[in-house]
Amino acid sequence: MSFLREINYLRLSITDRCNLGCFYCLPRLDWQKLPAPEIMRYEELLQIARVAVGLGIRKIRVTGGEPLVRRNVVDFLEKLTQTPGLKELCLTTNGVRLADMARDLYGAGLRHLNLSLDSLKPERYRQITGHDNFSQVMAGLGQALDLGFQPLKVNCVVLKDVNDDELLDFARLARDLPVQVRFIEFMPTVNPERWTRHFLPMPEVCRRLAVLGDMQVVDRQPTAGPAEIVRPVGFRGELGFISPVSRHHCPTCNRLRLTAAGRLRPCLFADLEIDIKTPLRQGASEAELASLFEEAVRTKGCLPEVKLSQSSLPSCPMVGIGG
Ligand code: SAM
Repeated sequence: MSFLREINYLRLSITDRCNLGCFYCLPRLDWQKLPAPEIMRYEELLQIARVAVGLGIRKIRVTGGEPLVRRNVVDFLEKLTQTPGLKELCLTTNGVRLADMARDLYGAGLRHLNLSLDSLKPERYRQITGHDNFSQVMAGLGQALDLGFQPLKVNCVVLKDVNDDELLDFARLARDLPVQVRFIEFMPTVNPERWTRHFLPMPEVCRRLAVLGDMQVVDRQPTAGPAEIVRPVGFRGELGFISPVSRHHCPTCNRLRLTAAGRLRPCLFADLEIDIKTPLRQGASEAELASLFEEAVRTKGCLPEVKLSQSSLPSCPMVGIGG
């Protein structure tokens, strides 16, 4: 699918429920969880994936909420891996249930895993997430390494005065383990004051990591997200830098999102959504569903360039959109 550029990456949010409450991601108090019947069913998601891949989507990332809290997710992923033409299936998880599920996920054919982890200190992890699950997450990471998930990425949202004293500790994970540690700029998705207080621009992160010495730039895959990847000399793994705020560049964005409510979202920061669930439930043909994807891609191509700031809050929280 293209409109001035190739759109080959779809993020599927399969639930708006999460078993953590990260302070930077928590929705507003007036936000209501979706009633269960409003969440896309697995058969519907599989049908949408088939249509999307038929149109040129090559990479699907399953996200949430927390995807591993949804019942029968392993079975769903196994079916999704069988979508003809799909080149990459990835899962993003907070890792709380990973130690218990990693073997089944691997057995279902999943190989690409992103693990979100914002602190390597148990007490701080609890402060950020509101839960005491640090040891489970680390056990999940260990399981994923033992099973050989590859690529295995650890996503760390950098938060000034919260975890920015751990940048080198996170980098050392990639020195010692075959993982890609990705530093992500905090986006203004919830509370503007909180964002101003805790935003640390990526150039500052890179400046602090310069003590690691020479870094070789790693080539990007055609379906890659916006990360810039480097491998410092002597590292087993890699470091990635994702700068949605300071280096945001709409013309190279290659992704569409499907929210847990079954709405196609051409841009994370534009509140424009195209309802695909209602036509699907009313019996739309695959050609009709395809035309909704085409509309989303056309719309994406026409949206104004986003400049993220305190006023960029999307109306739907990240748990519904899927990050
Ligand atoms: N529960 C899964 C997880 O934790 O990976 C998937 C959903 S979560 C919304 C996806 C990613 O979005 C996580 O890595 C999370 O840290 C990130 N995220 C949420 N709010 C963010 C924000 N304001 N800025 C940057 N990243 C954010």
